[in-house]
Amino acid sequence: MGRKASYQCPHCKSGMIARSSREVHALLRDIFLQCSNYQCGFSAGGILEITHEISPSARPNIEIQLQTIKELTARRAANDDDDHE
Ligand SMILES: [Zn+2]
Repeated sequence: MGRKASYQCPHCKSGMIARSSREVHALLRDIFLQCSNYQCGFSAGGILEITHEISPSARPNIEIQLQTIKELTARRAANDDDDHE
């Protein structure tokens, strides 16, 4: 595992390589990307954020409280309907 993220260069559509990233907190990283096409040479910074849970961890960290994908879509679908659980 490591450097094989599937980012695509917005300019030339080549793959971009994650050169480095810095942890902001457990769910958020600053990331630096560089286009793998030397004729393009585009590089950029961005953020990588974990926003929701798809499958729970078998070794959960009590400090990590994420919405599940189900909660996320339910909240979007029924904004004014909060007492049905
Ligand atoms: Zn490029």
